[in-house]
Amino acid sequence: MNFRIGLGYDVHPFVVGRKLMLGGVEIPFSKGLKGHSDADVLLHSITDALLGAGGLGDIGSHFPDTDPKFKNADSAILLKEAYALVTDAGYELSNIDATVVAEAPKIMPYVVKIRERISSLLGCETDRVSIKATTNEKMGFVGRSEGIAVHAVALIYKPAVD
Ligand code: MG
Repeated sequence: MNFRIGLGYDVHPFVVGRKLMLGGVEIPFSKGLKGHSDADVLLHSITDALLGAGGLGDIGSHFPDTDPKFKNADSAILLKEAYALVTDAGYELSNIDATVVAEAPKIMPYVVKIRERISSLLGCETDRVSIKATTNEKMGFVGRSEGIAVHAVALIYKPAVD
Protein backbone atom coordinates (compact mmCIF):
# COMPACT_ATOMS: atom_id res chain seq x y z
CA MET A 1 0.00 0.00 0.00
CA ASN A 2 1.04 3.54 -0.72
CA PHE A 3 0.98 5.39 2.60
CA ARG A 4 1.29 9.18 2.86
CA ILE A 5 1.52 11.26 6.01
CA GLY A 6 0.71 14.95 6.47
CA LEU A 7 1.34 17.46 9.24
CA GLY A 8 -0.88 20.38 10.18
CA TYR A 9 -0.30 23.25 12.58
CA ASP A 10 -2.51 26.23 13.23
CA VAL A 11 -2.96 28.90 15.86
CA HIS A 12 -5.59 31.59 16.40
CA PRO A 13 -5.77 34.31 19.06
CA PHE A 14 -8.70 34.70 21.42
CA VAL A 15 -11.10 37.57 20.89
CA VAL A 16 -14.14 38.68 22.87
CA GLY A 17 -17.51 38.61 21.14
CA ARG A 18 -17.20 35.49 18.95
CA LYS A 19 -18.41 32.00 19.67
CA LEU A 20 -15.68 29.39 20.15
CA MET A 21 -15.76 26.73 17.44
CA LEU A 22 -13.46 23.75 17.93
CA GLY A 23 -13.63 20.66 15.76
CA GLY A 24 -16.98 21.77 14.36
CA VAL A 25 -18.47 21.94 17.84
CA GLU A 26 -19.45 25.13 19.67
CA ILE A 27 -17.71 25.20 23.06
CA PRO A 28 -19.18 27.39 25.81
CA PHE A 29 -16.48 29.95 26.74
CA SER A 30 -16.10 33.66 27.45
CA LYS A 31 -14.10 34.23 24.24
CA GLY A 32 -13.95 32.94 20.69
CA LEU A 33 -11.09 32.81 18.19
CA LYS A 34 -10.20 35.61 15.81
CA GLY A 35 -9.96 34.79 12.11
CA HIS A 36 -11.35 35.47 8.66
CA SER A 37 -13.40 32.27 8.74
CA ASP A 38 -15.07 30.88 11.87
CA ALA A 39 -11.45 30.39 13.06
CA ASP A 40 -11.91 26.72 13.95
CA VAL A 41 -8.24 26.11 14.67
CA LEU A 42 -8.69 22.35 15.10
CA LEU A 43 -10.45 21.84 11.76
CA HIS A 44 -7.86 24.08 10.06
CA SER A 45 -4.99 22.02 11.42
CA ILE A 46 -6.63 18.75 10.33
CA THR A 47 -7.43 20.22 6.90
CA ASP A 48 -3.76 21.14 6.44
CA ALA A 49 -2.65 17.68 7.56
CA LEU A 50 -4.94 16.03 4.99
CA LEU A 51 -3.89 18.39 2.18
CA GLY A 52 -0.25 17.87 3.14
CA ALA A 53 -0.60 14.10 3.06
CA GLY A 54 -2.04 14.31 -0.43
CA GLY A 55 0.61 16.76 -1.61
CA LEU A 56 -2.27 19.07 -2.45
CA GLY A 57 -1.07 22.40 -1.09
CA ASP A 58 -2.38 24.03 2.06
CA ILE A 59 -5.53 25.59 3.45
CA GLY A 60 -4.37 29.11 2.56
CA SER A 61 -3.87 28.24 -1.10
CA HIS A 62 -7.33 26.67 -1.44
CA PHE A 63 -9.30 29.04 0.80
CA PRO A 64 -7.38 32.37 0.93
CA ASP A 65 -8.24 34.65 3.83
CA THR A 66 -8.14 37.59 1.40
CA ASP A 67 -11.20 36.18 -0.42
CA PRO A 68 -14.48 37.71 0.88
CA LYS A 69 -16.15 34.40 -0.04
CA PHE A 70 -14.53 32.82 3.02
CA LYS A 71 -15.46 35.58 5.51
CA ASN A 72 -16.97 33.82 8.54
CA ALA A 73 -16.79 30.58 6.49
CA ASP A 74 -17.87 27.35 8.17
CA SER A 75 -14.58 25.46 8.50
CA ALA A 76 -16.50 22.17 8.41
CA ILE A 77 -17.27 22.91 4.76
CA LEU A 78 -13.62 23.74 4.04
CA LEU A 79 -12.57 20.44 5.63
CA LYS A 80 -15.06 18.48 3.53
CA GLU A 81 -13.90 20.22 0.34
CA ALA A 82 -10.25 19.57 1.14
CA TYR A 83 -10.95 15.92 1.99
CA ALA A 84 -12.81 15.54 -1.33
CA LEU A 85 -9.57 16.54 -3.10
CA VAL A 86 -7.77 13.79 -1.19
CA THR A 87 -10.32 11.10 -2.01
CA ASP A 88 -10.58 12.32 -5.63
CA ALA A 89 -6.84 11.66 -5.86
CA GLY A 90 -7.56 8.02 -4.94
CA TYR A 91 -6.64 8.05 -1.26
CA GLU A 92 -8.48 6.66 1.73
CA LEU A 93 -8.09 7.83 5.30
CA SER A 94 -6.18 5.66 7.71
CA ASN A 95 -6.33 7.97 10.74
CA ILE A 96 -5.99 11.45 12.15
CA ASP A 97 -4.39 12.40 15.45
CA ALA A 98 -4.52 15.93 16.82
CA THR A 99 -3.37 17.69 19.99
CA VAL A 100 -5.15 20.87 21.08
CA VAL A 101 -2.88 23.10 23.17
CA ALA A 102 -4.80 25.51 25.40
CA GLU A 103 -4.78 26.68 29.01
CA ALA A 104 -8.56 27.19 28.82
CA PRO A 105 -11.23 26.13 28.25
CA LYS A 106 -10.94 22.48 29.23
CA ILE A 107 -11.33 20.45 26.03
CA MET A 108 -11.64 16.92 27.40
CA PRO A 109 -15.39 17.19 28.25
CA TYR A 110 -16.05 17.82 24.52
CA VAL A 111 -13.68 15.31 22.98
CA VAL A 112 -16.28 12.61 22.33
CA LYS A 113 -18.60 15.10 20.63
CA ILE A 114 -15.73 16.56 18.57
CA ARG A 115 -14.56 13.10 17.42
CA GLU A 116 -18.11 12.22 16.40
CA ARG A 117 -18.50 15.49 14.51
CA ILE A 118 -15.20 15.21 12.60
CA SER A 119 -15.69 11.55 11.74
CA SER A 120 -19.18 12.33 10.44
CA LEU A 121 -17.74 15.13 8.26
CA LEU A 122 -15.19 12.69 6.84
CA GLY A 123 -17.58 9.74 6.63
CA CYS A 124 -15.31 7.48 8.67
CA GLU A 125 -15.41 5.53 11.92
CA THR A 126 -14.94 7.57 15.11
CA ASP A 127 -11.88 5.56 16.12
CA ARG A 128 -10.00 6.93 13.09
CA VAL A 129 -10.11 10.42 14.59
CA SER A 130 -8.12 10.95 17.79
CA ILE A 131 -8.29 14.27 19.64
CA LYS A 132 -6.05 14.95 22.61
CA ALA A 133 -5.65 18.03 24.79
CA THR A 134 -2.86 19.54 26.82
CA THR A 135 -1.84 22.87 28.30
CA ASN A 136 1.38 24.75 27.58
CA GLU A 137 2.26 24.76 31.31
CA LYS A 138 1.63 28.53 31.39
CA MET A 139 4.59 29.21 29.06
CA GLY A 140 4.52 31.37 25.93
CA PHE A 141 1.47 32.85 24.16
CA VAL A 142 -0.68 29.77 24.67
CA GLY A 143 0.46 29.66 28.30
CA ARG A 144 -0.70 33.25 28.74
CA SER A 145 -4.13 32.20 27.40
CA GLU A 146 -3.76 34.41 24.32
CA GLY A 147 -5.07 31.74 21.98
CA ILE A 148 -5.21 28.08 21.00
CA ALA A 149 -2.68 26.07 18.99
CA VAL A 150 -3.31 22.68 17.35
CA HIS A 151 -0.91 20.09 15.96
CA ALA A 152 -2.37 17.37 13.72
CA VAL A 153 -1.17 14.47 11.63
CA ALA A 154 -3.12 12.56 9.00
CA LEU A 155 -2.22 9.22 7.44
CA ILE A 156 -3.81 8.34 4.10
CA TYR A 157 -3.22 5.45 1.72
CA LYS A 158 -3.90 4.29 -1.78
CA PRO A 159 -5.11 0.69 -1.76
CA ALA A 160 -2.80 -1.63 -3.69
CA VAL A 161 -4.07 -2.82 -7.09
CA ASP A 162 -3.20 -6.45 -7.84
MG1 MG B 1 -6.47 28.98 10.68
